[in-house]
Amino acid sequence: MSNLSDLYQEVILDHNRRPRNFRVLDAATHQAQGYNPLCGDRFELYLTIDGGVITDVGFQGSGCAISKASASMMTDCLKGCPVADACALFERFHSMVTTPPDIAVEDLGKLSSLAGVREFPVRVKCASLAWHTFKAALNQSQRATTESAG
Ligand code: ZN
Repeated sequence: MSNLSDLYQEVILDHNRRPRNFRVLDAATHQAQGYNPLCGDRFELYLTIDGGVITDVGFQGSGCAISKASASMMTDCLKGCPVADACALFERFHSMVTTPPDIAVEDLGKLSSLAGVREFPVRVKCASLAWHTFKAALNQSQRATTESAG
């Protein structure tokens, strides 16, 4: 994996073309806005949490293929997931995209299609934006930004 085109694997292109859960949740219990100033990616994330389980997830907004595909895949993974498991997945995803390229990382299924961003520090922000927005929504903060996050 050594050039940028390798980043745009088929699974990423597919999620970018047909983002899953791309809608506003009227009954959302948690929401947050995420913004990545380096790239201009901007998304609103909606969660419905009931009894400690994420029963529904939706997102809206626009950004580059990496950020949009990452948000789409994340919503797929989080739907039906206990909040504690979702937080653990956040940690695993974060370490996958921030581990140096020459070190092996855990296989996270379709999320692993984003592992290539490890070689492109600017793209790490794009791939992790949705996840930081998810954490912000859990904390009910108004806004997430990747400016200070890794
Ligand atoms: Zn981006």
